[in-house]
Amino acid sequence: MISYDIVIVGGGPAGLAAAISARKAGVDKILILERDKELGGILNQCIHNGFGLHTFKEELTGPEYAQRFITQVLDEKIEYKLHTMVMDISSDRIVTAMSREDGMYQIKAGAVILAMGCRERPRGALNIPGYRPAGIFSAGTAQRLVNMEGYMPGREVVILGSGDIGLIMARRMTLEGAKVKVVAELMPYSGGLKRNIVQCLDDFGIPLKLSHTVVDIEGKEHLSAVTIAEVDKNMKPIPGTEERYTCDTLLLSCGLIPENELSRNAGVEMSPVTSGPVVNESLETNIPGVFACGNVLHVHDLVDYVSEEATRAGANAAKFVKGEMAENSDKVIDIVATDGARYTVPSTINVERMDDLLTVRFRVGAVYKNSYVSVYFDDERVMHNKKRIMAPGEMEQVILQKEKLKEKSGLKKITIRIEAEDAN
Ligand SMILES: Cc1cc2nc3c(=O)[nH]c(=O)nc-3n(C[C@H](O)[C@H](O)[C@H](O)COP(=O)(O)OP(=O)(O)OC[C@H]3O[C@@H](n4cnc5c(N)ncnc54)[C@H](O)[C@@H]3O)c2cc1C
Repeated sequence: MISYDIVIVGGGPAGLAAAISARKAGVDKILILERDKELGGILNQCIHNGFGLHTFKEELTGPEYAQRFITQVLDEKIEYKLHTMVMDISSDRIVTAMSREDGMYQIKAGAVILAMGCRERPRGALNIPGYRPAGIFSAGTAQRLVNMEGYMPGREVVILGSGDIGLIMARRMTLEGAKVKVVAELMPYSGGLKRNIVQCLDDFGIPLKLSHTVVDIEGKEHLSAVTIAEVDKNMKPIPGTEERYTCDTLLLSCGLIPENELSRNAGVEMSPVTSGPVVNESLETNIPGVFACGNVLHVHDLVDYVSEEATRAGANAAKFVKGEMAENSDKVIDIVATDGARYTVPSTINVERMDDLLTVRFRVGAVYKNSYVSVYFDDERVMHNKKRIMAPGEMEQVILQKEKLKEKSGLKKITIRIEAEDAN
């Protein structure tokens, strides 16, 4: 059986940044396995700009951002295999892969980095009545058709869901000459970034109807109209609020789900909130030597954070294979998200193994205005940072210092919660 120090599953921005970082940390035999025909992941179809503001202080398109990392992978002579689907990862880090060229084969990996990204929530999971006529696409599929294959899905468009892909596609379809009639969002807030609402909807006069959903789809062979209606606080359509739009295309942008079939089969513990692996301060899963980063770990808003997180995963995997990682003792601090904070990544910390600074990322469950992100070490509040606005579509973070954690010997629990001004 062939063996590599580190095998990386997925050649998107997470896999690329992890590989480069592991190489810079001195690891020799690194292999990236990618099922697609090129490296770069989902960025290849994101031809709009807005990538890399944090990392490069420039506004790049998705392919330009990816290319910066692909160039480094080539310069570092990191091995990669395209058209190669990872079929299985065992708990002792045997990776089974399959390609037309090589058939099915196995690789013994010193460490594995999971970087498989995420996929769109399928329509089957959404409760929409009516036939299933042609003309209904997930927003990401439409994006691929328009930006990579050169096809227009249709001319008159309704979009259900206001996640970033839906917002970006509202603008893209408009620029390509289609009429986007409305974006309907079930929740009372958008699932996307504020900047995308402004730049992709407001700038083009496309209405966003919050607390609305699709209640009827017309057309048997091909979509001819959809009806949307307002929903009450129990998400039930309110009779009398129906609005009918003639259209030939319905785009569904109803969220992303981390792609974790491989992780689950390997026995990786999963978070029911993120649908991604539960990881510790080193971005290591419950299986020693198996790390996770990027959208497979939790859905990110900005690719810059994916690259930063993956850089840490690569460095930690390097420490693991070089035997430089401190033993994972039972002195573990739990990080608990509560009162508006939905989850944290990571969810545990072993202080001995953490870097001097540790970024803990999380999302809130509703829109909060003029509220505080508070951090408690057991019962003592140690951080209370005011935020003008927090929304589920944008990731939040707190940075923990190793020094401060070391001072608190016996600390069992760190709690992150959203508080109003007058709390405590
Ligand atoms: C439509 C859209 C618009 C976006 N717009 C912006 C923006 O304007 N600005 C911004 O900063 N960010 C944006 N993002 C976010 C950014 O693109 C993602 O955060 C980033 O691409 C995630 O990187 P990743 O490597 O985790 O996942 P991906 O890019 O999805 O890469 C995962 C890779 O793993 C491969 N893979 C999966 N399973 C296997 C397997 N079993 N075997 C082999 N290979 C496998 C996939 O083929 C894929 O190439 C956008 C995302 C989308 C979807």
